[in-house]
Amino acid sequence: MAKHTRERAPLPVSSEQEPRGWSLSARLILLLTLLVGAVMALGGWYIQRQRVAILETATRNELRAHAATLQIALEGAYRDGRLDAGQRLINRLSETPKIYSVIVFDEHGQATMLSNPTALPSLRSAPAVQQVLTTGETVEFASDMELFSIVMPLRLSNGRRGAVEVSQPTSFIAADRGRARRDIAMIALALFAAIAAGVMLVMRYGLLHPLRELLGGVAALGSGEFDYRVIVPRGGHELTRLAQSFNQMAASLAWQRNEARRAAAHELELERKLRQSERLAVVGRISAGVAHELGAPLNVIKGRVGMVQVSGPALPEKQRRNLTIINAQVDAITHLVRQLLDLARPFHLQHEALDLRELAAGVCELVEADARKQGVQIELPLTDPVWVEGDRKFLHQVLLNLCLNGLQAMERNGGGVLRFTFAVSTDHATAAHIGRGMNGYTMLRLADTGPGIAPEHLEHIFDPFFTTKEVGKGTGLGLSVSRRIVEEHGGHIDAANGRQGGAVFTIWLPRAVAPQSPSAQAGENEAAAIMGADN
Ligand code: ADP
Repeated sequence: MAKHTRERAPLPVSSEQEPRGWSLSARLILLLTLLVGAVMALGGWYIQRQRVAILETATRNELRAHAATLQIALEGAYRDGRLDAGQRLINRLSETPKIYSVIVFDEHGQATMLSNPTALPSLRSAPAVQQVLTTGETVEFASDMELFSIVMPLRLSNGRRGAVEVSQPTSFIAADRGRARRDIAMIALALFAAIAAGVMLVMRYGLLHPLRELLGGVAALGSGEFDYRVIVPRGGHELTRLAQSFNQMAASLAWQRNEARRAAAHELELERKLRQSERLAVVGRISAGVAHELGAPLNVIKGRVGMVQVSGPALPEKQRRNLTIINAQVDAITHLVRQLLDLARPFHLQHEALDLRELAAGVCELVEADARKQGVQIELPLTDPVWVEGDRKFLHQVLLNLCLNGLQAMERNGGGVLRFTFAVSTDHATAAHIGRGMNGYTMLRLADTGPGIAPEHLEHIFDPFFTTKEVGKGTGLGLSVSRRIVEEHGGHIDAANGRQGGAVFTIWLPRAVAPQSPSAQAGENEAAAIMGADN
């Protein structure tokens, strides 16, 4: 078989698995040999019998003709008194290989002329001669010596009735029979050889190869190799259909296995998400408690520090520095507390139609000074407004967090590029993938030229408290809060590494209908096309 979709060698079937006993081809050859042998024996016997009968009839007719001619010639010789001519005639005739002997008898039944001295009249011929002398009728008989004889009446010179016996050997008929048997045996042998070769060829290429292929397929399926396909033999016969059905069955098994795997993976994912949200809920409760307990004292400390800083110009420099440090630390703790609260508390989003590009431009202004210090160039494409449905304050927080992360990632590079890209999609597949968004989605992509995210970290970076930054530099809450904000908006955020290195964050947010002014409408229409390609 040659597998349509497969160029793989069939799996070997070990000899231990092969059943012992006569192979199929040996059985078939034996059966056909017996059948053909029986038919050949019967047919040969019948043909040979016919052939012998025809041969016997032909030779008898020939002998009768010879005897009749001889009778006329001898009667002429007797009438003319030329017995020597009669003897010569007998000698000539007996030279023919098909004539064994010629004997002429007188009216007493005594042999008077012989074709050769050894051809003495046999005992069996005596009664026949007597019968001819008495009745004048021709007699035919076969003797023990494998001879066939004809005795005819003969008018002698004295007017009395004599007889002439012409004998013919029948051994050539037996020889012919032997030859015929040999011929039939040779034909039968040739037929057997042809049948055996034919059966072996058909069995080998028409049956055994396809069956071996199928056995290989069954073994492969048995060992869980559901992508295995057998080669379908040509010819459209039963084995072709069997191989096709096998392949269909294998394809269906493979499909079912993939479905089962997909379902299992889906279940695992659901379970992971459930555990994650359970963990988040616990973290949220603790965070809310801690934030609440810490919030009030921190406010008091900050107020008092501010009052002391303002009211005490005469404070020594060392105390002033200490107060500045305390103030910065209180700010850091307040920031952490706010992030914890963002993670835990329910959001009250103020939805409005926002131009995402304008929001990004505001964030860029904030980080521009830091970027310049680092030698980082910010690329924000000049596009028409990109409308999204969202809360300005929260989305600002997300963009700021992503920008700061990008800048931090490029800190050691001594420069780099922070690039924004926008696009709009009304594609249903995207909508189905993300969830909501009646008007389609707006995409914002932020790529940096930093070291990128280690592959083993990719699936954890949105987990709360996951950070690779040194102590005091990162809380590991920025991305988890950002994801929560984006998802609360009915959007989606993911992270990847760019083809040329660096991290790439992509955010999808529900697209908003632009505020209904003629110019805004035109802008929205244009935004429906892919916008802001990579510069
Ligand atoms: P934090 O910034 O406090 O560590 P985040 O949740 O914002 O917390 O980020 C989590 C982790 O994701 C970071 O510690 C860093 O390992 C990784 N990460 C975030 N942004 C980038 C980026 N632009 N390039 C490389 N890694 C990043």
